[in-house]
Amino acid sequence: MKVAIIGGGWAGLAAAWSLHRQGHAVSVFEAARTLGGRARRVSSRPLGQIIDNGQHILLGAYTDTLALMGELGLNPCERFHRERLTLQSADGAFLLRALPLPAPLHLLGGIATARGLGPLERLRLVTLTATLRARGWKTAAGLSVAQWLEQGRQSPHALRSFWQPLCLAALNTPVDSACAQLFAHVLRDSLGGAGRATDVLIPRVDLSQLWPDEAARQLNGGNTDGAGVYLGRPVRQLACSAAGVTVDGAQFDAAVVAGNAPSARKLLEQLGPQAGSDAYLAMLSAFTYLPIATLTLQLERPWGLPQPMLLLRDDPARLQFGQWLFDRSAFAASRSVSSSHTAKQADAPRLLHIVISAASAMQQHPPAQIADAVIRQVQAQTRRFGPMPRVTGHDLIVEKRATFAATPGLARPPVATPWPRIWAAGDWTDTGYPGVLEGAVRSGRAAARSLLQSLA
Ligand SMILES: Cc1cc2nc3c(=O)[nH]c(=O)nc-3n(C[C@H](O)[C@H](O)[C@H](O)COP(=O)(O)OP(=O)(O)OC[C@H]3O[C@@H](n4cnc5c(N)ncnc54)[C@H](O)[C@@H]3O)c2cc1C
Repeated sequence: MKVAIIGGGWAGLAAAWSLHRQGHAVSVFEAARTLGGRARRVSSRPLGQIIDNGQHILLGAYTDTLALMGELGLNPCERFHRERLTLQSADGAFLLRALPLPAPLHLLGGIATARGLGPLERLRLVTLTATLRARGWKTAAGLSVAQWLEQGRQSPHALRSFWQPLCLAALNTPVDSACAQLFAHVLRDSLGGAGRATDVLIPRVDLSQLWPDEAARQLNGGNTDGAGVYLGRPVRQLACSAAGVTVDGAQFDAAVVAGNAPSARKLLEQLGPQAGSDAYLAMLSAFTYLPIATLTLQLERPWGLPQPMLLLRDDPARLQFGQWLFDRSAFAASRSVSSSHTAKQADAPRLLHIVISAASAMQQHPPAQIADAVIRQVQAQTRRFGPMPRVTGHDLIVEKRATFAATPGLARPPVATPWPRIWAAGDWTDTGYPGVLEGAVRSGRAAARSLLQSLA
């Protein structure tokens, strides 16, 4: 079959790779000049080097992503720094580290020995997660994370130091409006999974280089019949019938629409009405998006913080928006994957990344003012590590549509659409996950499976 994939993010590429592996001729059309979508490398003008559009972490529970990398012949150990889950605040007030014990003892032990939580807070934390597990990781319908935590009698202090940062990192949605059931799914597959599922995986290489570049290389390999990856090619026109699909005038047997929800809707709206198509489009219209901002600092010299990922205490009233601090200097230097992009990243050990999730509030302030305030915040909260090396440059990247707001009751469309020969893939489909990389990969693979079951 000839299949068009519209969108070269992680979902589209996962679908493309699955179909290519089964021997089909796949053409990927990507509007941007770089593969990877919302998880891609960018060229930073202020820093004069390649960086990521935003700091991403993966989990040991991201089994489909790791399996896909294996299928491509890539070694995840080479491309990720992997470590046991450690939630440590930069100022040293909070520390929770999974212990090297079989699950669930690794976490129970971690909570029992956590620094910064009182005995009652630890007990309530364990009780709440144990109750969730006993209920098959199901929460009441329509519940927000804040309501679920209130029912579990979590103290304001436990909320602020543990639950809130975890929820923002996983769902990019504040606890008051975040969906408890989606959060429970993340907890099931990470905290409730096998011991290694809670591991944190931090990329050693840029995000496009993790696997999208290699997928493109192999997709371009047996370039037959127009198959391959086309960059800088936004698709504007889509039509379909029982006989085939037309993408900007070119004929295909099927297509996978793999943009984000608003861009998928723009294309699907062009197709004629079908049974269920109004309901499908209405689901797409219901998605709203939240920003994530990443401030990258270039230091005079590598700092070498003892932990690659540290929690920051944010204080929006003082423009101190930073929530997580990343220092990849320890392992960025030991990268063993070579490419021209790696060479351009030679300065990576001198970079610090500060992540601001659900970053709507900061958008009303000028970037320079935010950068100043966040630099001061980092300096103040990392004092115990000695003075931060001088900042020689910075770049603030705001991804306005970073992820969809993962709110209670949000209906998620399936990958099989009401239109003949058209499938959808993206983190917004009904993956059971919030807007995350693993959800995108799973949806791409599910779209390919569904397409093959229907047409092959
Ligand atoms: C700053 C930031 C930090 C994040 N942190 C994490 C994290 O730590 N862990 C995690 O798991 N997830 C994280 N995420 C979320 C993760 O990046 C997304 O869930 C994932 O990348 C979505 O992939 P996708 O393929 O579904 O969509 P996208 O990445 O949006 O890909 C869609 C692609 O389709 C293309 N496209 C759209 N319309 C057309 C068209 N008409 N023609 C051609 N091409 C088109 C777009 O250009 C885009 O490349 C983060 C996101 C951001 C922005």
